[in-house]
Amino acid sequence: MPELPEVETVVLGLRELLRGRVVKNITTDWPKSLRVSDSRIKSDILGQEITGLRRVGKMILIDLQNNNTLVIHLKMTGQLVYKKVKDGESAEDFGAGHPSDSLISRLPDKTTRVILTLDGRAVLYFNDMRKFGWIKVLSSGEIEESSLINQLGPDLLKIDSKEFIQRLSKRGKNIKSCLLDQTIVSGCGNIYADESLWASKIHPGMPACELTHKQLGNLHRNLQDVLRFSIKQGGSSSRNYVNALGLKGKYLDFVNVYQKAGSPCARCQTPIERIVVASRGTHLCPVCQKI
Ligand SMILES: [Zn+2]
Repeated sequence: MPELPEVETVVLGLRELLRGRVVKNITTDWPKSLRVSDSRIKSDILGQEITGLRRVGKMILIDLQNNNTLVIHLKMTGQLVYKKVKDGESAEDFGAGHPSDSLISRLPDKTTRVILTLDGRAVLYFNDMRKFGWIKVLSSGEIEESSLINQLGPDLLKIDSKEFIQRLSKRGKNIKSCLLDQTIVSGCGNIYADESLWASKIHPGMPACELTHKQLGNLHRNLQDVLRFSIKQGGSSSRNYVNALGLKGKYLDFVNVYQKAGSPCARCQTPIERIVVASRGTHLCPVCQKI
């Protein structure tokens, strides 16, 4: 599932390619993927120039000249792939999001849900095998009032240690639930919660209010480190996705506990365990992360 680093990779990779392009057409073969009425497609999207691209939590926002914004959530298996053709050859392309062959395949393919045709012979494909992702359009006023966006807590890459501690230190629920609760801090998913808690030697089931400020400060630093490291590795993009034969670039090469049940802990060699916390599969070292 694309998490913050993968979504950040999409935004960083597509920003310059999309800026200034004009949306000529938008089509879908799966209406739930494009949750926009035909009339709003005509009035709000078509003919509009793309002025910018940004990330809010795990959503991608494509701003249009008329102050409308395409809001995209990749959910489980979404990816965005940009292709530009010149003289019959692919001149520019970039894809990122869920790591699958569609990142580097001929498109559209069977996972393609939405096609944005742009000027200059460029196309943006929204591929989504499992069909949980979506695209909506919101006006600037709707964005201000949208619970999708304004209920999000501060972004994990931007929040400082002091505010992080302040927002977590009085919560009675377990620390993993707090990290996954996007209204407390936004951008953390299952992988980065497990990895940062292991790095901080904190049991995922510990009530947040029982952690010391020093432990929370340490967790804040480890979270930002692991997110930044993953962004630096390129998230999961067409740049590092090689093929379906297991050569998937550096994606998830860095993990110490996530989906590593049974493997030895890198610190103490105890086998990593998988338990359920916050209704999610959770990976930890039972010796390094005591409750
Ligand atoms: Zn250990």
